[in-house]
Amino acid sequence: MLCFTPVQSKPTPTPTSGTINHCPLLPHQRIHYYHHHHHHHPSSNYRLRIRAIDAAQPYDYESRVSNQFAQSNKLKIAIIGFGNFGQFLAKAFLRQGHSVLSHSRTDYSHISQSLGISFFQDPHDLCEQHPDVILLSTSIISTEPVLRSLPIQRLKRNTLFVDVLSVKEFPKDIFLQVLPSHFDILCTHPMFGPESGKQTWKDLPFVYDKVRIGEGESRVSRVDRFLDIFEKEGCRMVEMTCAEHDKYAAGSQFITHTMGRVLEKLDLETTPINTKGYETLLNLVDNTSGDSFDLYYGLFMYNKNAMEQLERLDLAFESLKKELFGHLHEVLRRQLFGKVEEEGQRRVLSKLPKNGHVLPPPSTDAINN
Ligand code: NAP
Repeated sequence: MLCFTPVQSKPTPTPTSGTINHCPLLPHQRIHYYHHHHHHHPSSNYRLRIRAIDAAQPYDYESRVSNQFAQSNKLKIAIIGFGNFGQFLAKAFLRQGHSVLSHSRTDYSHISQSLGISFFQDPHDLCEQHPDVILLSTSIISTEPVLRSLPIQRLKRNTLFVDVLSVKEFPKDIFLQVLPSHFDILCTHPMFGPESGKQTWKDLPFVYDKVRIGEGESRVSRVDRFLDIFEKEGCRMVEMTCAEHDKYAAGSQFITHTMGRVLEKLDLETTPINTKGYETLLNLVDNTSGDSFDLYYGLFMYNKNAMEQLERLDLAFESLKKELFGHLHEVLRRQLFGKVEEEGQRRVLSKLPKNGHVLPPPSTDAINN
Protein backbone atom coordinates (compact mmCIF):
# COMPACT_ATOMS: atom_id res chain seq x y z
CA MET A 1 0.00 0.00 0.00
CA LEU A 2 2.78 2.40 0.78
CA CYS A 3 5.21 1.63 -1.96
CA PHE A 4 5.53 2.25 -5.63
CA THR A 5 7.92 -0.20 -7.27
CA PRO A 6 8.52 -3.91 -6.75
CA VAL A 7 11.93 -3.57 -5.18
CA GLN A 8 10.58 -1.23 -2.52
CA SER A 9 7.40 -3.11 -2.03
CA LYS A 10 7.97 -5.04 1.15
CA PRO A 11 10.54 -3.53 3.44
CA THR A 12 10.38 -5.61 6.59
CA PRO A 13 11.67 -3.90 9.70
CA THR A 14 15.09 -5.08 10.72
CA PRO A 15 17.21 -3.94 13.61
CA THR A 16 18.89 -1.44 11.32
CA SER A 17 15.64 -0.10 9.95
CA GLY A 18 14.21 0.72 13.35
CA THR A 19 14.30 4.42 12.67
CA ILE A 20 11.48 4.01 10.20
CA ASN A 21 9.15 3.53 13.08
CA HIS A 22 10.07 6.73 14.81
CA CYS A 23 8.85 9.09 12.22
CA PRO A 24 5.86 8.69 9.94
CA LEU A 25 7.42 9.37 6.60
CA LEU A 26 5.99 9.94 3.19
CA PRO A 27 6.29 7.01 0.79
CA HIS A 28 9.06 8.57 -1.25
CA GLN A 29 11.02 9.32 1.90
CA ARG A 30 10.80 5.71 2.95
CA ILE A 31 12.04 4.68 -0.45
CA HIS A 32 14.99 6.96 -0.06
CA TYR A 33 15.85 5.45 3.29
CA TYR A 34 15.76 1.99 1.84
CA HIS A 35 18.20 2.84 -0.91
CA HIS A 36 20.39 4.56 1.58
CA HIS A 37 20.83 1.34 3.50
CA HIS A 38 21.30 -0.56 0.38
CA HIS A 39 24.29 1.56 -0.49
CA HIS A 40 25.91 1.36 2.88
CA HIS A 41 25.14 -2.23 3.77
CA PRO A 42 24.94 -4.26 0.60
CA SER A 43 23.83 -7.31 2.54
CA SER A 44 20.86 -5.66 4.21
CA ASN A 45 19.01 -5.37 0.93
CA TYR A 46 19.20 -9.09 0.52
CA ARG A 47 18.03 -9.70 4.06
CA LEU A 48 15.04 -7.43 3.58
CA ARG A 49 13.94 -9.21 0.46
CA ILE A 50 14.07 -12.63 2.09
CA ARG A 51 12.13 -11.54 5.12
CA ALA A 52 9.50 -9.97 2.98
CA ILE A 53 8.41 -13.37 1.79
CA ASP A 54 7.43 -14.82 5.12
CA ALA A 55 4.13 -14.67 6.91
CA ALA A 56 2.15 -11.61 7.89
CA GLN A 57 5.03 -9.53 9.08
CA PRO A 58 5.10 -7.10 6.15
CA TYR A 59 1.41 -6.42 6.62
CA ASP A 60 1.87 -5.74 10.31
CA TYR A 61 4.56 -3.38 9.35
CA GLU A 62 2.45 -1.70 6.73
CA SER A 63 -0.51 -1.29 8.98
CA ARG A 64 1.68 0.08 11.77
CA VAL A 65 3.19 2.63 9.46
CA SER A 66 -0.15 3.48 7.97
CA ASN A 67 -1.57 4.07 11.44
CA GLN A 68 1.29 6.39 12.18
CA PHE A 69 0.62 8.07 8.90
CA ALA A 70 -2.98 8.60 9.94
CA GLN A 71 -2.09 9.82 13.38
CA SER A 72 0.39 12.27 11.96
CA ASN A 73 -2.53 14.25 10.46
CA LYS A 74 -1.19 13.71 7.01
CA LEU A 75 -3.53 12.47 4.32
CA LYS A 76 -2.96 10.52 1.16
CA ILE A 77 -5.02 12.42 -1.38
CA ALA A 78 -5.73 11.14 -4.89
CA ILE A 79 -6.71 13.88 -7.32
CA ILE A 80 -8.85 12.70 -10.22
CA GLY A 81 -8.76 15.27 -13.02
CA PHE A 82 -5.35 16.87 -12.92
CA GLY A 83 -6.08 19.95 -15.05
CA ASN A 84 -5.89 23.62 -14.17
CA PHE A 85 -7.65 23.47 -10.82
CA GLY A 86 -6.47 20.01 -9.76
CA GLN A 87 -2.84 21.09 -10.05
CA PHE A 88 -3.53 24.33 -8.25
CA LEU A 89 -4.99 22.45 -5.27
CA ALA A 90 -2.22 19.82 -5.32
CA LYS A 91 0.43 22.47 -4.63
CA ALA A 92 -1.30 23.53 -1.44
CA PHE A 93 -1.76 19.92 -0.29
CA LEU A 94 1.95 19.27 -0.83
CA ARG A 95 2.91 22.50 0.91
CA GLN A 96 1.11 21.23 3.97
CA GLY A 97 2.93 17.90 3.86
CA HIS A 98 0.15 15.67 2.55
CA SER A 99 0.98 13.05 -0.03
CA VAL A 100 -0.68 13.43 -3.39
CA LEU A 101 -1.42 10.98 -6.20
CA SER A 102 -2.99 11.93 -9.50
CA HIS A 103 -4.92 10.45 -12.37
CA SER A 104 -6.32 12.16 -15.45
CA ARG A 105 -7.46 11.54 -19.01
CA THR A 106 -4.36 13.36 -20.26
CA ASP A 107 -0.88 12.11 -19.36
CA TYR A 108 0.41 14.46 -16.66
CA SER A 109 3.31 12.28 -15.56
CA HIS A 110 5.93 14.96 -16.23
CA ILE A 111 4.15 17.75 -14.38
CA SER A 112 3.33 15.32 -11.58
CA GLN A 113 6.90 14.16 -11.30
CA SER A 114 8.24 17.69 -11.16
CA LEU A 115 5.88 18.41 -8.26
CA GLY A 116 6.73 15.21 -6.40
CA ILE A 117 3.43 13.49 -7.16
CA SER A 118 2.93 9.95 -8.47
CA PHE A 119 0.84 9.98 -11.62
CA PHE A 120 -1.26 6.92 -12.45
CA GLN A 121 -2.41 6.48 -16.01
CA ASP A 122 -4.54 3.54 -14.95
CA PRO A 123 -7.18 4.24 -12.27
CA HIS A 124 -6.89 0.64 -11.05
CA ASP A 125 -3.31 1.26 -10.00
CA LEU A 126 -4.27 4.48 -8.30
CA CYS A 127 -7.10 2.88 -6.32
CA GLU A 128 -4.80 0.08 -5.22
CA GLN A 129 -2.67 2.70 -3.49
CA HIS A 130 -5.55 3.00 -1.02
CA PRO A 131 -5.69 6.79 -0.70
CA ASP A 132 -7.55 8.27 2.29
CA VAL A 133 -9.27 10.76 0.03
CA ILE A 134 -10.44 10.65 -3.56
CA LEU A 135 -10.80 14.23 -4.75
CA LEU A 136 -12.73 14.78 -7.97
CA SER A 137 -11.57 17.81 -9.89
CA THR A 138 -12.82 16.98 -13.37
CA SER A 139 -14.94 19.28 -15.48
CA ILE A 140 -18.54 19.41 -14.31
CA ILE A 141 -19.85 17.85 -17.51
CA SER A 142 -17.46 14.86 -17.36
CA THR A 143 -17.98 14.12 -13.67
CA GLU A 144 -20.49 11.34 -13.97
CA PRO A 145 -18.66 9.20 -16.57
CA VAL A 146 -15.35 9.75 -14.76
CA LEU A 147 -16.79 8.71 -11.40
CA ARG A 148 -18.48 5.66 -12.90
CA SER A 149 -15.24 4.58 -14.57
CA LEU A 150 -13.33 4.39 -11.27
CA PRO A 151 -12.80 0.85 -9.94
CA ILE A 152 -14.05 1.80 -6.48
CA GLN A 153 -14.01 -1.85 -5.36
CA ARG A 154 -10.22 -1.54 -5.19
CA LEU A 155 -10.35 1.24 -2.63
CA LYS A 156 -10.36 0.93 1.12
CA ARG A 157 -13.94 0.40 2.17
CA ASN A 158 -14.29 3.69 3.95
CA THR A 159 -12.54 6.05 1.60
CA LEU A 160 -13.59 9.70 1.74
CA PHE A 161 -14.89 11.14 -1.54
CA VAL A 162 -14.61 14.88 -2.03
CA ASP A 163 -15.53 17.01 -5.01
CA VAL A 164 -14.64 20.62 -5.79
CA LEU A 165 -17.15 21.27 -8.55
CA SER A 166 -18.46 24.81 -8.96
CA VAL A 167 -22.01 23.47 -8.72
CA LYS A 168 -23.02 21.41 -5.72
CA GLU A 169 -26.38 19.66 -5.92
CA PHE A 170 -25.34 17.79 -9.04
CA PRO A 171 -22.21 16.05 -7.67
CA LYS A 172 -24.01 15.38 -4.39
CA ASP A 173 -26.74 13.48 -6.24
CA ILE A 174 -24.23 11.56 -8.37
CA PHE A 175 -22.15 10.61 -5.34
CA LEU A 176 -25.23 9.37 -3.51
CA GLN A 177 -26.31 7.37 -6.54
CA VAL A 178 -22.96 5.80 -7.38
CA LEU A 179 -21.14 5.33 -4.06
CA PRO A 180 -22.07 2.49 -1.70
CA SER A 181 -22.92 3.64 1.81
CA HIS A 182 -19.57 2.66 3.28
CA PHE A 183 -17.88 5.58 1.50
CA ASP A 184 -17.91 9.02 3.06
CA ILE A 185 -18.99 12.06 1.05
CA LEU A 186 -17.91 15.67 1.40
CA CYS A 187 -19.05 18.20 -1.19
CA THR A 188 -16.99 21.37 -1.37
CA HIS A 189 -16.53 24.49 -3.44
CA PRO A 190 -13.40 26.53 -2.99
CA MET A 191 -14.74 29.90 -4.18
CA PHE A 192 -11.49 30.92 -5.86
CA GLY A 193 -9.18 29.74 -8.57
CA PRO A 194 -5.62 29.89 -9.84
CA GLU A 195 -6.12 33.60 -10.67
CA SER A 196 -8.01 34.91 -7.66
CA GLY A 197 -6.12 32.66 -5.24
CA LYS A 198 -2.70 33.18 -6.77
CA GLN A 199 -1.12 35.05 -3.86
CA THR A 200 -3.04 33.77 -0.88
CA TRP A 201 -6.27 32.01 0.11
CA LYS A 202 -6.65 34.24 3.12
CA ASP A 203 -10.30 35.20 3.71
CA LEU A 204 -11.45 33.52 0.50
CA PRO A 205 -14.67 31.55 1.05
CA PHE A 206 -14.60 27.77 1.16
CA VAL A 207 -18.08 26.22 1.04
CA TYR A 208 -18.65 22.68 2.25
CA ASP A 209 -21.44 20.25 3.00
CA LYS A 210 -20.75 17.06 4.98
CA VAL A 211 -23.20 15.04 2.94
CA ARG A 212 -22.48 11.65 4.50
CA ILE A 213 -19.82 10.95 7.09
CA GLY A 214 -19.97 7.53 8.73
CA GLU A 215 -19.69 6.96 12.45
CA GLY A 216 -16.39 6.47 14.14
CA GLU A 217 -13.65 8.71 15.38
CA SER A 218 -11.31 8.01 12.47
CA ARG A 219 -13.86 9.02 9.85
CA VAL A 220 -14.87 12.16 11.67
CA SER A 221 -11.27 13.13 12.18
CA ARG A 222 -10.34 12.39 8.58
CA VAL A 223 -12.90 14.82 7.18
CA ASP A 224 -11.79 17.40 9.74
CA ARG A 225 -8.17 16.95 8.73
CA PHE A 226 -9.15 17.54 5.13
CA LEU A 227 -11.10 20.69 5.97
CA ASP A 228 -8.18 21.79 8.09
CA ILE A 229 -6.07 22.22 4.96
CA PHE A 230 -8.26 25.11 3.85
CA GLU A 231 -8.65 26.48 7.32
CA LYS A 232 -4.87 26.59 7.70
CA GLU A 233 -4.59 28.52 4.44
CA GLY A 234 -6.87 31.13 6.00
CA CYS A 235 -10.05 30.42 4.04
CA ARG A 236 -13.36 31.62 5.41
CA MET A 237 -15.06 28.28 6.10
CA VAL A 238 -18.76 28.32 5.22
CA GLU A 239 -20.88 25.27 5.94
CA MET A 240 -24.11 25.24 3.95
CA THR A 241 -26.26 22.79 2.02
CA CYS A 242 -25.56 22.11 -1.62
CA ALA A 243 -28.98 23.55 -2.51
CA GLU A 244 -28.28 26.81 -0.71
CA HIS A 245 -24.91 27.07 -2.41
CA ASP A 246 -26.45 26.69 -5.87
CA LYS A 247 -29.03 29.37 -5.18
CA TYR A 248 -26.44 31.89 -4.05
CA ALA A 249 -23.92 30.91 -6.72
CA ALA A 250 -26.36 31.33 -9.62
CA GLY A 251 -27.06 34.89 -8.51
CA SER A 252 -23.40 35.72 -7.90
CA GLN A 253 -20.84 33.48 -9.56
CA PHE A 254 -22.82 32.69 -12.68
CA ILE A 255 -23.70 36.35 -13.19
CA THR A 256 -20.05 37.27 -12.67
CA HIS A 257 -18.83 34.78 -15.24
CA THR A 258 -21.54 35.82 -17.69
CA MET A 259 -20.69 39.51 -17.40
CA GLY A 260 -16.99 38.69 -17.69
CA ARG A 261 -17.64 36.78 -20.89
CA VAL A 262 -19.93 39.45 -22.34
CA LEU A 263 -17.26 42.06 -21.68
CA GLU A 264 -14.61 39.79 -23.15
CA LYS A 265 -16.58 39.75 -26.39
CA LEU A 266 -16.39 43.56 -26.41
CA ASP A 267 -12.61 43.24 -26.48
CA LEU A 268 -12.11 46.05 -23.99
CA GLU A 269 -8.79 47.82 -24.14
CA THR A 270 -6.94 49.79 -21.57
CA THR A 271 -6.91 53.58 -22.12
CA PRO A 272 -4.73 56.42 -20.81
CA ILE A 273 -7.67 57.57 -18.68
CA ASN A 274 -9.03 54.40 -17.07
CA THR A 275 -11.40 55.07 -14.20
CA LYS A 276 -11.38 52.78 -11.19
CA GLY A 277 -14.68 51.34 -12.35
CA TYR A 278 -13.26 50.57 -15.75
CA GLU A 279 -10.23 48.92 -14.16
CA THR A 280 -12.68 46.73 -12.27
CA LEU A 281 -14.22 45.62 -15.54
CA LEU A 282 -10.83 44.84 -17.06
CA ASN A 283 -10.00 42.80 -13.97
CA LEU A 284 -13.29 40.96 -14.26
CA VAL A 285 -12.43 39.91 -17.79
CA ASP A 286 -9.01 38.69 -16.61
CA ASN A 287 -10.61 36.88 -13.72
CA THR A 288 -13.04 34.86 -15.82
CA SER A 289 -11.29 34.44 -19.18
CA GLY A 290 -8.75 31.98 -17.77
CA ASP A 291 -11.48 29.47 -16.97
CA SER A 292 -12.47 26.87 -19.55
CA PHE A 293 -15.74 27.15 -21.43
CA ASP A 294 -16.57 23.69 -20.02
CA LEU A 295 -16.54 25.25 -16.59
CA TYR A 296 -18.81 28.13 -17.59
CA TYR A 297 -21.15 25.84 -19.47
CA GLY A 298 -21.28 23.56 -16.41
CA LEU A 299 -22.34 26.50 -14.23
CA PHE A 300 -25.27 26.97 -16.56
CA MET A 301 -26.25 23.39 -17.35
CA TYR A 302 -25.91 21.88 -13.90
CA ASN A 303 -27.35 24.61 -11.72
CA LYS A 304 -31.09 24.71 -12.02
CA ASN A 305 -31.16 28.33 -10.86
CA ALA A 306 -28.89 29.55 -13.65
CA MET A 307 -31.52 29.80 -16.37
CA GLU A 308 -33.66 32.13 -14.29
CA GLN A 309 -30.64 34.33 -13.63
CA LEU A 310 -29.79 34.49 -17.32
CA GLU A 311 -33.35 35.53 -18.11
CA ARG A 312 -33.26 38.17 -15.40
CA LEU A 313 -30.05 39.52 -16.85
CA ASP A 314 -31.64 39.73 -20.26
CA LEU A 315 -34.74 41.43 -18.87
CA ALA A 316 -32.64 43.83 -16.85
CA PHE A 317 -30.75 44.92 -19.94
CA GLU A 318 -33.97 45.38 -21.89
CA SER A 319 -35.52 47.28 -19.03
CA LEU A 320 -32.54 49.58 -18.75
CA LYS A 321 -32.65 50.35 -22.45
CA LYS A 322 -36.37 51.09 -22.22
CA GLU A 323 -35.74 53.53 -19.39
CA LEU A 324 -33.08 55.28 -21.41
CA PHE A 325 -35.26 55.48 -24.48
CA GLY A 326 -38.29 56.44 -22.41
CA HIS A 327 -36.34 59.29 -20.92
CA LEU A 328 -35.19 60.41 -24.33
CA HIS A 329 -38.80 60.30 -25.50
CA GLU A 330 -39.82 62.55 -22.62
CA VAL A 331 -37.17 65.10 -23.46
CA LEU A 332 -38.26 65.14 -27.06
CA ARG A 333 -41.91 65.67 -26.05
CA ARG A 334 -40.92 68.56 -23.83
CA GLN A 335 -39.09 70.16 -26.68
CA LEU A 336 -41.94 69.57 -29.08
CA PHE A 337 -44.82 70.64 -26.82
CA GLY A 338 -43.04 72.85 -24.27
CA LYS A 339 -44.49 70.81 -21.46
CA VAL A 340 -42.67 71.49 -18.23
CA GLU A 341 -41.81 68.52 -16.07
CA GLU A 342 -43.48 68.74 -12.68
CA GLU A 343 -41.48 68.61 -9.48
CA GLY A 344 -41.26 65.15 -7.82
CA GLN A 345 -41.91 63.39 -11.05
CA ARG A 346 -38.29 62.54 -11.62
CA ARG A 347 -38.13 58.81 -11.90
CA VAL A 348 -35.47 56.54 -10.49
CA LEU A 349 -34.42 53.38 -12.26
CA SER A 350 -36.80 50.60 -11.46
CA LYS A 351 -35.37 47.32 -10.21
CA LEU A 352 -36.32 43.82 -11.19
CA PRO A 353 -38.32 41.95 -8.59
CA LYS A 354 -36.04 39.60 -6.66
CA ASN A 355 -37.93 36.41 -7.20
CA GLY A 356 -39.66 36.25 -10.53
CA HIS A 357 -39.55 37.08 -14.16
CA VAL A 358 -42.34 39.62 -14.11
CA LEU A 359 -41.21 43.14 -14.76
CA PRO A 360 -42.93 46.37 -13.94
CA PRO A 361 -43.45 48.14 -17.24
CA PRO A 362 -40.70 50.71 -16.65
CA SER A 363 -41.14 53.09 -19.50
CA THR A 364 -44.85 53.18 -20.23
CA ASP A 365 -45.43 55.92 -17.62
CA ALA A 366 -42.88 58.03 -19.30
CA ILE A 367 -44.38 57.46 -22.67
CA ASN A 368 -47.95 58.16 -21.52
CA ASN A 369 -47.03 61.29 -19.63
P1 NAP B 1 -12.48 22.27 -16.24
O1 NAP B 1 -12.43 22.54 -17.70
O2 NAP B 1 -13.76 22.50 -15.56
O3 NAP B 1 -12.00 20.77 -15.99
C1 NAP B 1 -10.80 20.27 -16.51
C2 NAP B 1 -10.56 18.88 -15.97
O4 NAP B 1 -11.59 17.99 -16.39
C3 NAP B 1 -9.26 18.32 -16.48
O5 NAP B 1 -8.64 17.62 -15.44
C4 NAP B 1 -9.70 17.37 -17.58
O6 NAP B 1 -8.85 16.27 -17.73
C5 NAP B 1 -11.01 16.87 -17.05
N1 NAP B 1 -11.90 16.44 -18.13
C6 NAP B 1 -12.60 17.22 -19.01
N2 NAP B 1 -13.33 16.48 -19.85
C7 NAP B 1 -13.08 15.19 -19.53
C8 NAP B 1 -13.55 13.94 -20.02
N3 NAP B 1 -14.41 13.88 -21.04
N4 NAP B 1 -13.10 12.81 -19.44
C9 NAP B 1 -12.23 12.86 -18.42
N5 NAP B 1 -11.76 14.01 -17.88
C10 NAP B 1 -12.18 15.16 -18.44
O7 NAP B 1 -11.34 23.18 -15.61
P2 NAP B 1 -10.72 23.31 -14.13
O8 NAP B 1 -10.56 24.75 -13.93
O9 NAP B 1 -9.53 22.45 -14.03
O10 NAP B 1 -11.85 22.80 -13.13
C11 NAP B 1 -11.91 21.52 -12.58
C12 NAP B 1 -13.07 21.45 -11.60
O11 NAP B 1 -12.84 22.35 -10.52
C13 NAP B 1 -14.40 21.85 -12.22
O12 NAP B 1 -15.40 21.01 -11.74
C14 NAP B 1 -14.62 23.25 -11.72
O13 NAP B 1 -15.98 23.57 -11.59
C15 NAP B 1 -13.94 23.21 -10.35
N6 NAP B 1 -13.45 24.49 -9.86
C16 NAP B 1 -12.66 25.26 -10.66
C17 NAP B 1 -12.23 26.49 -10.21
C18 NAP B 1 -11.35 27.37 -11.05
O14 NAP B 1 -11.14 28.51 -10.70
N7 NAP B 1 -10.81 26.93 -12.15
C19 NAP B 1 -12.59 26.93 -8.93
C20 NAP B 1 -13.38 26.11 -8.12
C21 NAP B 1 -13.80 24.90 -8.61
P3 NAP B 1 -7.54 16.36 -18.64
O15 NAP B 1 -6.82 17.60 -18.23
O16 NAP B 1 -6.81 15.11 -18.27
O17 NAP B 1 -7.96 16.39 -20.05
